[in-house]
Amino acid sequence: MSKRDLSRRTKAVHGGTRRSQYGEVSEAIFLTQGFVYDDAAQAEQRFIKAGEDEFIYARYGNPTTRMFEERIAALEGAEDAFATASGMAAVNGALVSMLKAGDRVVSSRALFGSCLYILEEILPRFGVEVVFVDGTSLDEWRAAVTPGTKAVFFESVSNPALDLIDVAAVSEIAHAAGALVIADNVFATPVFSRAIEQGVDVVVYSATKHIDGQGRVLGGVILGSKEFIRKTAEPYLKHTGAALSPFSAWLLLKGLETMELRVRAQAASAQQIAEALEADDRLARVIYPGLPAHPQHALAMEQMGSGGTVLAFDLGSKEAAFRFLDALEIVLISNNLGDAKSIVTHPATTTHQRLAEEQRATLGITPGLVRLSIGLEDPADLIADLQGALEAAARVAAEA
Ligand SMILES: *Cc1c(COP(=O)(O)O)cnc(C)c1O
Repeated sequence: MSKRDLSRRTKAVHGGTRRSQYGEVSEAIFLTQGFVYDDAAQAEQRFIKAGEDEFIYARYGNPTTRMFEERIAALEGAEDAFATASGMAAVNGALVSMLKAGDRVVSSRALFGSCLYILEEILPRFGVEVVFVDGTSLDEWRAAVTPGTKAVFFESVSNPALDLIDVAAVSEIAHAAGALVIADNVFATPVFSRAIEQGVDVVVYSATKHIDGQGRVLGGVILGSKEFIRKTAEPYLKHTGAALSPFSAWLLLKGLETMELRVRAQAASAQQIAEALEADDRLARVIYPGLPAHPQHALAMEQMGSGGTVLAFDLGSKEAAFRFLDALEIVLISNNLGDAKSIVTHPATTTHQRLAEEQRATLGITPGLVRLSIGLEDPADLIADLQGALEAAARVAAEA
């Protein structure tokens, strides 16, 4: 690729490309587990130190996977990246690769169910102390991040209540105490993220979401300094089998080419839909960082320049939420997000079902809360579908 300082859209199309002797336009899928050596001495040499374009075994690295890692690293402004089989393998790998018994981690409480499981159940089992804070309160971060704290973890925009973390301020607090900052950045998306510039040391994505964006594969990626990725994350990941399939890596490479167009269109629709729903008397509360009514609207605009592709609203009760979901005709009931297809989720009974009632209440996951991921359909069709379902849900309630 050209050495000039290219924009993100150009990097998303060309970053990391490796061509075989055939000069293919579209990236090749190297669906191979291993690599052949010219002679025994070359094999020995490669095991001592593999060069930039030398591979040993697909659990360690693969040319197609490497193209994906380099493309996403270029987009995010990170020195390096390691791709994983899922977003959770990335979250687990980023944390476990750097922690040991006796370490202290401070984490925001508002987390995706599986992230919470790692921090709440797994890490303490191995002697890591995990302290949870209200991530929106800088005072709580300041009090909890004591000198010697090893890592700080948060979802920069929380799933599903859409609370924002002040990334620059929390990073500053963490760095003053000597802690590494690890951010699960799924809801910010690589398109709106400036996490590295804002102070995050290690950025983690579930590539299953906006990067694929078409509901086809699971994937994840850890981004950070060359030192962290190659010396800390890679040894753990390559020996414990977190590797992304080269076929999935290829789909994610193709996903990156269109991600910016998709995510910007989805976010523009989400803004339009949030405004339409906010004006609807049948809904008490619409949560979307792009709405001025969101308590962290100013931070969202400063940090991401967008409200993102997901919104949430409260229908008052589980029954009302179910009636609403069941009446939708275009929006699918599922639990992915960032997909080309709009998807509705009832977190209390699905993604966050495992949590105790009071824990859900603390996180704002009320019985009537519905999470809506906006896809690429015409926003006017989506608004009509949502309004029709609100109408139908109200009618069923009146007849009951
Ligand atoms: C989906 C998600 C994950 C997990 O990603 P998978 O690819 O499903 O393993 C982690 N964090 C957040 C915020 C997510 O939305």
